[in-house]
Amino acid sequence: MTADRDRLVLVIEDEPQVVRFLRASLGSHGFKILEAATGQKGLIEASSRVPDLILLDLGLPDMDGVEVARRLREWTSVPLIVLSARGQERDKIEALDAGADDYLTKPFGIGELLARIRVALRHAARIGDDPEDSEFAVGDLRVDLAARRVFAREAEVHLTPIEYNLLTTLVKNAGKVVTQRQLLKEVWGPGAVDRAHYLRVYMAQLRHKLEPEPARPQWLITEPGVGYRLKTD
Ligand code: CA
Repeated sequence: MTADRDRLVLVIEDEPQVVRFLRASLGSHGFKILEAATGQKGLIEASSRVPDLILLDLGLPDMDGVEVARRLREWTSVPLIVLSARGQERDKIEALDAGADDYLTKPFGIGELLARIRVALRHAARIGDDPEDSEFAVGDLRVDLAARRVFAREAEVHLTPIEYNLLTTLVKNAGKVVTQRQLLKEVWGPGAVDRAHYLRVYMAQLRHKLEPEPARPQWLITEPGVGYRLKTD
């Protein structure tokens, strides 16, 4: 991970043990850490120091973490991962809908943290590439975005337009969680954001067509209560 050397991570978090853990674990992997114990300080540091990635706690002493996410997204697309505690499910989803890239639920391990950071940094680096020009592959699943063709286990799979749009929305966010609201808005339009049952039906169809064992999905993963994630490895 030499590419991550000297990457600057802004940690907006008020819990000393979590900050200590992040400082030690990210520091040992070559990241530089910038700390802010309040939302206000975090917003100032984000604009003055221009970090490569932000880790944002949702329970801050001075302001709601969701509000911090919203204000950040008014001017920056910096990769943003929220740190939530159990019981903050709704805040977590609001933060993702406000533009956070992903989340980690406390307590989390270093492996999980680094994996999320890698995906978010990789995704940020890809923005600007022409997404229509690329191909996505994981395991025996292959999506040719330019030709609009999908293959599983060496054979072409025919998808309906909705299935295809659902799959490509996940492909464009591969590795990251996409909320139910984001998927419904993207695939069915803003009027459908409350119709979570659409997703259950169409996700079941996609899994049936693409997964070796639809009942135990390997690639099209459910994030319970939040949304879905297309695995990348
Ligand atoms: Ca906190």
